[in-house]
Amino acid sequence: ALHDALVEMRGNIRVFCRVRPILSAESVQKRLIVHDKLSDAIHVNLENGAVKKFLFDRIFDQEHSQSDLFEEICPLIHSCLDGKNLTIFAYGHTGSGKTYSMEIYNEKLRDLLDPQVTNISLKTHEDGNHVIKGITWKKVDNEAKISEILNQGRQNRAVASTALNDNSSRSHAIAVISIQMKDLTSGKISIGKLNLVDLAGSERVNKSQVTGPQLKEAQCINRSLSELGNVVAALRRKQNHVPFRNSLLTRILEDSLAGDGKTVMIVQVTSTQNFLQESLSSMNFAEKIS
Ligand code: ADP
Ligand code: MG
Repeated sequence: ALHDALVEMRGNIRVFCRVRPILSAESVQKRLIVHDKLSDAIHVNLENGAVKKFLFDRIFDQEHSQSDLFEEICPLIHSCLDGKNLTIFAYGHTGSGKTYSMEIYNEKLRDLLDPQVTNISLKTHEDGNHVIKGITWKKVDNEAKISEILNQGRQNRAVASTALNDNSSRSHAIAVISIQMKDLTSGKISIGKLNLVDLAGSERVNKSQVTGPQLKEAQCINRSLSELGNVVAALRRKQNHVPFRNSLLTRILEDSLAGDGKTVMIVQVTSTQNFLQESLSSMNFAEKIS
């Protein structure tokens, strides 16, 4: 109960930062982004010798494991059992660890459990709730089955992106786990939704280098990510108007993000020189929504 109270106090939106470990191929590079444990802040050592600091609700550094992250999120997942919605986003440049942390191409929807299906659409009910028509729902009763389905989706995502002569970092992937609980005494059924959103890479594509479909794709991604930022910022500031309508991504997630739905944004960064600009821009994004 104390933990629940703490979760309640910290509001419905949490912004975490995760600094992925330096990979062996990068090991010659200096670490420029560090977790300063004393102030519990991220310190970015800039080229001019200055240090830029960023604060988050919680920082996971190279020493934290997958289970440390899970432990933090677990109480929130439990709220899905009470019929609440939880949405977890992974935001960051390609290679920053988004897919590792989780678990729409050109504003088009694709069913990763049945990639052949093409007639998928977003329908809005009179009560304002959105449903995605034409996608696969699978019934599960244990954890292993969930992992199996997520892996199947992940494989199909890789295959679909190869067919498009592209890679998975240019699309957003959403896994929706709907959890139904039946109270055996009252017979009351509550339904909670867990959305796992592996966002497209946040890196800015150099506009002078791309044309045609790729330029359109880059613009779509940039727009949907910034619209997502606007929505999360509006929710965090409890603004009356939340601009859900501006992109397909935010429209799909509207019922989960609105109301008493909880949201976790994991901002993924890389600590070395080669991705300094991308990581800085991800943290600037986080600062804007905080
Ligand atoms: P993204 O999805 O953002 O493009 P990935 O999740 O594919 O990035 O991660 C890039 C690489 O870094 C992968 O090889 C992955 O295994 C590794 N990696 C990412 N995060 C971690 C971590 N916390 N610990 C160990 N390896 C990681
Ligand atoms: Mg990925």
